[in-house]
Amino acid sequence: MEAVEGIQYPYALDKGGSIVKAVDAPRSEIYSCIACKERMVLRRGEIKRPHFAHYTENPNCTPETVLHKMAKDNIREGIETALSCGLKYPFTWHCPVCDQEHKGDLARNTREVKTEVSLDGVRPDILVSSTKGKSLVAIEVVVTHSPEQEAIEAYKQLKLPVLLVEPGWEDLENLKSGLGLVEAWQVLCVAKRCPKCKGQMEEIDIGVFTGRNCYKCGGPLLYIALVKGQIASFINLAPGIIKHARSLGVLMKKINPVIYHLEIAVDQCHACKALQVGHRHEVKYISDLEAGGRKLVKRKPCYRCQACDIWLEKKRAIKPMTAQNPLNIPPGKKGEPNE
Ligand SMILES: [Zn+2]
Ligand SMILES: [Zn+2]
Ligand SMILES: [Zn+2]
Ligand SMILES: [Zn+2]
Repeated sequence: MEAVEGIQYPYALDKGGSIVKAVDAPRSEIYSCIACKERMVLRRGEIKRPHFAHYTENPNCTPETVLHKMAKDNIREGIETALSCGLKYPFTWHCPVCDQEHKGDLARNTREVKTEVSLDGVRPDILVSSTKGKSLVAIEVVVTHSPEQEAIEAYKQLKLPVLLVEPGWEDLENLKSGLGLVEAWQVLCVAKRCPKCKGQMEEIDIGVFTGRNCYKCGGPLLYIALVKGQIASFINLAPGIIKHARSLGVLMKKINPVIYHLEIAVDQCHACKALQVGHRHEVKYISDLEAGGRKLVKRKPCYRCQACDIWLEKKRAIKPMTAQNPLNIPPGKKGEPNE
């Protein structure tokens, strides 16, 4: 065991049991160790960085114990705060299945966060479970060593997703608002798979726009354009897009003009039902469309399989439209004239 002199703790508890940082700690106070609760002294000299040290040597206590405990407490507190305030508690992981980074949120639903829980064969540092008591995800705070083989086996048996966090002292504050990039075990790939070919689907957001008029009756047109994701040509959208367009209150029709040798989707006027064949469909960035007087009135996040032209709505999609409120225009925008 090295001399007490060499062991530095950046944090300790004050008389009232609150955690204090050595740099901010007043000299006259009495301090104790966060891990072993024994008396500590504040060292704030000219040369060394301010730190706490045990008053008498405690061979069973190390700064790593304190770092581990603080990280655990901050994560627990962070998730609980996020849950009670309706905030996110995000984390990111690199997915070995699709080789991409995915984002998750540990405060997505009403959940419970526990420490000191014993599962079958393993004691996770933190366990997030449903309100009905179903284990959802375990968090392991890795400071000195990764989970033992036994624990790994137990997690496999339980089929429980595990997030591994490797914090440093400088990460402690951030852990109150999210985990950052973690290593993840047994976490499902969230990339959407095509129900037909099982290939990975792309994320595409359809935008509904106003700001154009029917060539025939002059009435306002509703039309769609992609606002996220890319498709080589809008022609490729046919015919899968038509169904989605309809669910957004946009009329489109399949036609088969000789020049394309393909079916394409064209806009149709609500009022006079004229097909807007002459208008080339626009696939542009939102900024271009808005500069041209177009207004985005609705956005629908989707997944699309390039190979099968299958479109799926993302789960947290916007509310379906109703006849009373065909565009779901936010209240402030109601009554604004169409240009
Ligand atoms: Zn201690
Ligand atoms: Zn993935
Ligand atoms: Zn497919
Ligand atoms: Zn018309």
